[in-house]
Amino acid sequence: MLHDHIERVLFSEAQIHARLEELAAAISADYAQTTPLLVSVLKGALYFVADLTRAVSIPVALDFMAITSYGSAQATSGAVRLIKDLDEEISGRHVLLVEDIIDTGLTAAYLLRTLRARDPASLRICTLLDKTARRIVDTLPISYRGFEVPDMFVVGYGLDYRQLYRNLPYIGVLKPEVVAAT
Ligand code: 5GP
Repeated sequence: MLHDHIERVLFSEAQIHARLEELAAAISADYAQTTPLLVSVLKGALYFVADLTRAVSIPVALDFMAITSYGSAQATSGAVRLIKDLDEEISGRHVLLVEDIIDTGLTAAYLLRTLRARDPASLRICTLLDKTARRIVDTLPISYRGFEVPDMFVVGYGLDYRQLYRNLPYIGVLKPEVVAAT
């Protein structure tokens, strides 16, 4: 069973949804005079952006990018390839980049460079999880942050290990024997 693979739950479904309501309230207040475009990164941020957009009280537009990161199953090397670009033009728009987790910050830095080059009116980051202990790029405009996470590899609520465990409703840590066996 899926849940038997989990050693420890870090953030329960209820904790995630409570925090998400707070983030959504802040975003709704800050962008009250605008119609922001939420740009989300597939696939990790899928559940987060789906719940976040339903919790905000302002009209928002939604678009997706997909990337692949080169590196091992548990860390990125910072080399990123864009495999799906946005459908929308972002010039002059208020863009909020919605991320699942920011670890070294290299992926977010790449995405910001790509988006900034298109001249948005504003560009900020909302991340569900922030692993500051491993940060390399420390100049990211993170305006909204769900939870700080310890330096552990986490799965669930969109986050995968070898493409599995995204469908866990909470965020947790895998049992070492599950990682060792794959
Ligand atoms: P960064 O470029 O900030 O080092 O890495 C960001 C990406 O690495 C995330 O979007 C995610 O795909 C992956 N990542 C980093 N830490 C974790 C983690 O603890 N769990 C999972 N599932 N992915 C992670």
